Amino acid sequence: MKTTVYVDNNATTAVAPEVTESMLPFFTEYWGNPSSMHTFGGGVKKHLDEAREKVAALIGAEHPNEIVFTSCGSESNNMAIRGTVDAMGGHPHVITTRVEHAAVLGPCHYLEDKGFRLSTLEVDGQGHLNLDQVREFSMTGKQTVASIMWANNETGVIFPVPAMGKIIKEGGGIFHTDAVQIAGKLPIDVKDIPIDLLSLSGHKLHAPKGIGALYIRRGTKITPHIMGGHQERGRRAGTENVPYIVGLGKACELAMQRMEADAAHERKLRDRLEAGILATCKGARVNGDIQNRLPNTTNISFEYVEGEAILLMLDDVGICASTGSACASGSLEPSHVLRAMDVPRSMVHGSIRFSLSRYNTDEDIDYVLEQMPRIINRLRELSPFVQDDSKGCNCAGGCGTP
Ligand code: PLP
Repeated sequence: MKTTVYVDNNATTAVAPEVTESMLPFFTEYWGNPSSMHTFGGGVKKHLDEAREKVAALIGAEHPNEIVFTSCGSESNNMAIRGTVDAMGGHPHVITTRVEHAAVLGPCHYLEDKGFRLSTLEVDGQGHLNLDQVREFSMTGKQTVASIMWANNETGVIFPVPAMGKIIKEGGGIFHTDAVQIAGKLPIDVKDIPIDLLSLSGHKLHAPKGIGALYIRRGTKITPHIMGGHQERGRRAGTENVPYIVGLGKACELAMQRMEADAAHERKLRDRLEAGILATCKGARVNGDIQNRLPNTTNISFEYVEGEAILLMLDDVGICASTGSACASGSLEPSHVLRAMDVPRSMVHGSIRFSLSRYNTDEDIDYVLEQMPRIINRLRELSPFVQDDSKGCNCAGGCGTP
């Protein structure tokens, strides 16, 4: 049977067996509607409450009812941004960064198209924000909604959320952070940090796809985007996805119990993988600040080769990773994150993200390290651009773009 080595955990994670087990009774036995008056349905509600407590505990929320269950991280981000802008009224100034996930950039650009002022923070070559620019944008005297991610999904670089929150709150703004990649990987305590809203997603922390949550600090005004019934205290209508909510609660509980050990395990494997690749693959470099990043992520560029070609060859030998570059898939666009970081042209198309989880093993890393030098050498042999950067894009489609 073909080997599968899964090192793409920032894309999605395996559902933990404990999570699957916690969900099963809610498909087979306790399938009632938690809003029902009868005991069979209404009795399920206590399991929703328990799950809400577990999600709240993972991020240090003081009140479980500050957690609203959603369908995914994208929904949480959309709800946070559009819901707070709508509730503020008028035309608040929207602030974000160049390196956000599309689930933040999408609603921000939608608002810009509707006539809202949008300011986009730059990052430097290490993927860091400039706090003076955060201050400059937050202190305009206008009402502000700022949405700034906590950890970058492509590079793993961590933004200084506590410092940014302080600046944004001093300017009187609302602060939302997309914590989809950091939740469950590193400690979060919203009690101590001036955050108004925080998004997380189940499938990034070993719960299933199709469940997410939005933390809304008490007192934060938000207009619901799904209207109808009174579920989620009127903040999001729709009968609750009970099994998945229970699964998310279990995943948060597990993450809390295992966070330190998992982070140490992933960091050790990630560092060995990274050092091995840098030592054996010529023209490789790590993108982003290597000190201040998620313990499970490394983003490595390979000079004069194309990320998608590497991915295809990795896939051939059963290794699942990812690339930010979409060159061969038709858009010819390299990753917006790497472009924002001014990664040199000879490297920006050739990036691979490896992202690990608690389930990766030393054998997985050995296998990737065995395959990578062969793949990179092979692609370099085929590359017409190894010597000459001026010839432009080296994509599989032969686009020839400069
Ligand atoms: N935000 C970040 C930083 C992400 O990495 C992702 C998914 O990759 C999302 C939001 C969207 O989450 P979901 O897939 O749950 O919609």
